[in-house]
Formats: sequence, structure tokens, C-alpha cells
Amino acid sequence: MSERRKVHIKSYGCQMNVYDSNRMADTLAPHGYVETPTPDDADLIILNTCHIREKAADKVYSELGRLRKMRLQSADPDRPVTIAVAGCVAQAEGEEILRRAPSVDLVFGPQNYHRLPDFLTRVGNGAKVVETEFPIEDKFGQLGAPSRKAIRARGVSAFVTIQEGCDKFCTFCVVPYTRGAENSRPVAAIADDVARLTDAGVREVSLIGQNVNAFHGDGPDGKPWSLGRLIEHIAAMPGIARIRYTTSHPRDVDDSLIAAHRDIPALMPQLHLPVQSGSDRILAAMNRRHTRADYLAYLARLRRARPDMSFTSDFIVGFPGETEADFADTLSLMDEADITCAFSFKYSPRPGTPAAEMHDQVDETIKSERLGRLQRVIDRHQTDFNLSCRGRTLDVLFEKIGRHPGQITGKSPYLQPVQVLAPASLIGTVRRVTITDLSTNSLHGRLAERADGSHPEPHIESHAESHAMPPVQRPDRVATGG
Ligand code: SF4
Repeated sequence: MSERRKVHIKSYGCQMNVYDSNRMADTLAPHGYVETPTPDDADLIILNTCHIREKAADKVYSELGRLRKMRLQSADPDRPVTIAVAGCVAQAEGEEILRRAPSVDLVFGPQNYHRLPDFLTRVGNGAKVVETEFPIEDKFGQLGAPSRKAIRARGVSAFVTIQEGCDKFCTFCVVPYTRGAENSRPVAAIADDVARLTDAGVREVSLIGQNVNAFHGDGPDGKPWSLGRLIEHIAAMPGIARIRYTTSHPRDVDDSLIAAHRDIPALMPQLHLPVQSGSDRILAAMNRRHTRADYLAYLARLRRARPDMSFTSDFIVGFPGETEADFADTLSLMDEADITCAFSFKYSPRPGTPAAEMHDQVDETIKSERLGRLQRVIDRHQTDFNLSCRGRTLDVLFEKIGRHPGQITGKSPYLQPVQVLAPASLIGTVRRVTITDLSTNSLHGRLAERADGSHPEPHIESHAESHAMPPVQRPDRVATGG
């Protein structure tokens, strides 16, 4: 495979899939593949699918129908197009995909990405390939590493997978079945990835995993390390300005993680901590293994450790058996926990999960009505946040050129996009910005320091602010994780 070929990878769903798509591209690069942003000129099309959203498989099949038509219209016998389906739908559907969509050549699950070049060789020899096993070899050790050029092209912020899979078995969730058991990477391998990224100019790493704070990778001392200890290790590495992690489970918020939030300024004061419901009865039916009081206690401890923490969450409404009183508990938790923003979904059954078999399913009309009510509360919280931003001075990591001439754009500690008129030379640096205005999706501000780092006005530490800063946008999300 020496000639240049083009691969188009379409990612559905979460950050984890975006990261996996990048690693697939990195693995294919030494085999002559370059990425293309459209499927039209691709020799290889990979749909990296997500099973979280409702009707996920149906959406994949309809996309495959479009690709089949496209392939028929541009049929060139000298340039065959390979169509592959990866990700959680591939894992869940397996052979069924080939039966329903015969134009597909390759189906492979998330634990097999490192074997992609081998699969393509087999497809090139005329085989149809389905691989949804959980092989015992180390996937991460065998995935291709990104080139310096590829890292630079992806910007100053990067994901690093530190953990995969989940052992929690929430009754609504497919992740334990599609991604398998919890599996943490060794600390040394993660540190190598981080060093490669910072060497190429990355300043912010987001540590990701379906249940990221269950991390227990082998440390250099031969003992399992917690996420808090890993963060401490990474924060000491040269070039690191910011660390984030997602997605977490409340049960795995331990002392070392709380200490990390207290002691490590590079660890951002924003945490996505899914709760799913405010009702203890529903939390038990979901097998969440924590109560409403537990959740509030975790948030209180984190706020004591770092007073400027901001929390975002996930909610499922209309879980089987949810009464109006249970739902009222969810609404009140939004206020009591002072959650700044949240993802909210109507419950929809996932085949093979215990909740799908529960008898007391909630009527769709009721689910829709409750979702609307919850989203109005979430919007109110977001609006309050937005209004509280004006006049504050925040650290901003500048990431790229803005849409308007002379503008650059970055992120606040709370993942808010911030637009500033400033020189492009500040991209990749963290600067103090005073927020002067708001628009629908962004904050706007001016530098509170000169481009050379000197201060035209008093330096105000955002860390000392006592009120949690809300994100304007909902945070990014990893699968149903946490
Ligand atoms: S919701 Fe999160 S914690 Fe629960 S089973 Fe799914 S991935 Fe695991």
C-alpha cells in the first residue's frame, strides 16, 4: 500500500469517538492514507458510530444508503471505494450490518482499531470482514502515534485516552457491553503521549474515558495510580498549561481527586459529573450506586477544595417508573446543586439493557413534556451564568484565528468560547481577558494585559472568585460515560 490514498472518517457522538477517529487516521498514515474532509473523493470511508443517541443504528443505516448511492453513481472499477463501519453501533450490530447494508466491506468494534491495516488488506483480497471481539493485546500500544504535523493541525488542545470501558452497569447504558470492562492505560504510556503532544505545541490535555475517574493505571512504581495522582504527574510536565478530564462517575470522586482540584492550578475548575436523576428511587432503579445526598456531598467537598468550581451534568427524564414526584426531585436538584449547565435526554430503551425490559415505561408525551420543563430550568441557569460573566476577568487559552478580522478565539477555564481582538501571535498562550459582552455562543472581551504580558490594569485572580462561573455552552461529552 505505497500509493497515496484518501480516507474520510465521519465521527458520531462523543469526544472519545473523535479521539478514536484521529488515532485511526494516525494508524493509516504510514500505509499511505491521507485524510479528506468529504466522502466524494475518498478511497476509504469509515463511519465511526455512536450508540448513545436514540435510533443510532437507524441513522447509520440511512447514511450507508446514501453512501451506496454515491458509490454507484461514481463507480470506477479502477478505483474501488471501501466502506467501513466502526464504533459502538458496529460492536452492537456486527454481522447484521453486512446483512442490511451489503455495500459495507468492513465492520469493526472499538477494541480492534489497531488492526485496521490488516483488515484493509483482507478486504483488498476480496473478503468481507467483521471483527467485534475484545482481543487481549494492548490496543493503545499498537495504535499509530500522530505525527508532529498532525498534532499541530489539530490545535493547542488535545484529547488523551487514559481509560476505556465501564464496570458500573447502569441499567440504561450500553457502554459496558460495547466498550467492555474498565481498562486503564499505564502511566508511562500516557506520559509519553502527553510529552509528544506538548512537544508539538499542545498546551491543554483533556484526559478522557467512559468512566475516567475510575482510572487505576500502573504507575512507574509498579502500583496502580489514581486519577488525582496521574493529574499531579502530568501537571509537572513541561509545556502543560491546562488539564481537564471527562467523563466522571460520582462514586469515583476520591480524596486524591479532590486534593488535585485543591492543589493543582493547571487542573481546570470545571467538572462534568453526570447525576442522571434527582430521585433516590430512580437512582436505585438505574443502579447508579449513589444517592442524591451523596451527589450533593461530593459537590460540596469539591467546592470546599476549590471555591470557583463549576459543575455540569447529564439527566435522563422518563426513566421507567419515574413519577411526577421523582421528576420534581430532578428539577429541584438542578437548583440545589447549582448545576451550571446540563445535557438532558428522554429515556429511550437500548436493546439488551435491563431497563429496556422494565414494565413501567413512561409514555412518550409525558417524557417530552418533562424534558421541556427540565430544559427551561437548564436554560435559566445558563442565562444566569451568561449574565454573571460580564465584567469578570478570566484566563483564556487562545486556540485559533476568529471569524472576524483581527479577532482570535480561545476558551475560558469553564470551556466558554471567548473572542478577543488581539494578535495571532498569542495563539497557544494563556492570557487574562476582561469580559465585556456576550453573544449567543460566545463571550467577548479585551486583553487585561498587554501582548507582552505586562498589565495595564490590576490583575484579578479568577481563582479567588467565590461564585461558580457557568459555561455559555454545554460541555463536551464522552459517550454516556460516568
Ligand atoms: S452510564 Fe456511565 S457509569 Fe453507567 S454504565 Fe454507562 S458508562 Fe458506566
